[in-house]
Amino acid sequence: MTEKSPAPAMRVPLLDLKPQYETIAARTRAAIEAVCASQHFILGSEVKTLETRLAAYTQTRHGIGVSSGTDALLLALMALRIGPGDAVITSPYTFFATAGTIARTGARPLFCDIEPATFNLCPRAVRELIEGQCERRDGALVHRASGTRVKALMPVHLYGQVCPMEPLLALAREAELAVIEDAAQAIGARDAGGRQAGSFGDIGCFSFFPTKNLGAFGDAGLCVAQDDALAEHMRVLRVHGGQPKYHHAFIGGNFRIDELQAAVLNVKLDYLDDWSRRRAENARVYDAAFARAGLEGEVTPPTALPGFHHIYNQYVIRVRRRDALREALARDGVGTEIYYPIPLHLQQCFASLGHRAGDFPESERAALETLALPIYPELTSEQLHYVVERIAAFYAGGA
Ligand SMILES: *Cc1c(COP(=O)(O)O)cnc(C)c1O
Repeated sequence: MTEKSPAPAMRVPLLDLKPQYETIAARTRAAIEAVCASQHFILGSEVKTLETRLAAYTQTRHGIGVSSGTDALLLALMALRIGPGDAVITSPYTFFATAGTIARTGARPLFCDIEPATFNLCPRAVRELIEGQCERRDGALVHRASGTRVKALMPVHLYGQVCPMEPLLALAREAELAVIEDAAQAIGARDAGGRQAGSFGDIGCFSFFPTKNLGAFGDAGLCVAQDDALAEHMRVLRVHGGQPKYHHAFIGGNFRIDELQAAVLNVKLDYLDDWSRRRAENARVYDAAFARAGLEGEVTPPTALPGFHHIYNQYVIRVRRRDALREALARDGVGTEIYYPIPLHLQQCFASLGHRAGDFPESERAALETLALPIYPELTSEQLHYVVERIAAFYAGGA
């Protein structure tokens, strides 16, 4: 018989969207009502407004609203004409959609390991892959083992921190690779030079999944681009490739964002910087509390690169005895999540790529050690300190 454990002293969910909704309920309801009154649900004025505002916000020329972050990545790959026989370099330590969309085009995901401090793609690993495993044949960069043509690089700005792009952009220029940024978790994140996530490469891809810093009331996403022709091509592919309507030089899809989602996002965008700032403040409270708790060796707080503007879509620590800690925190009323428990090169669906455990040791170690803590803007200081106190109690053996 297990003892009935006492109710936790406090509840700290991983995410609770309700308090945020309360602050914007009147405005969002009015915006939704206005769309209902117009009965204009597809690619209307809310979508146009959102695209214009987000292009400006992300320091790009064009925004193309799409149905999800996943579809943003797929549309970007299709627009760059990536398909069977091609390969795209990316990280194995990310959400499934990053490599999933590459594979769905018929191309091969070519994985490179991550930097342990930031969990982002390691430029040295990318260089080693290009120089050690690829060669030039008739102007194309060919991955020797698979015979695929390497066409693009897809870095991920994981957890809301920009992947240091200078070395990656230099490698891409040298190897003539297109760059697609998976900025799904990083809207508003900047590097030390003030450059916005999504603005570095040929195409930047954002997600408005409800858990992201700018979350819709359902699925939505966005592609951004600087190049006029590439942006226009994405707009055409978003509506089945028909240009003019019913004339198809290309096979596209239905990748449209809903007008209702755009209306909600136009309201929320006014608050985005404030919400992200409060997430960063929560991160500083955690950082200071972990430093005071003396948990070196047990808990490693996330690394924020100097001068970078981190938007903390997630606050992810590395810990010892991760799974036991997670269970103890659940009993204490603290919600956590593991992003991500299985690196993509070890996923069953990618078995045909022929990877084995040990191929990307930093990604594999991260998958065993990382734990995301609650970081959403409306958390109270008491809740944040309770989380750190319960973690300290676990390592003190009192949990
Ligand atoms: C959320 C996310 C996506 C996919 O976005 P959806 O809107 O859920 O389709 C892709 N990549 C990363 C890194 C993400 O976090």
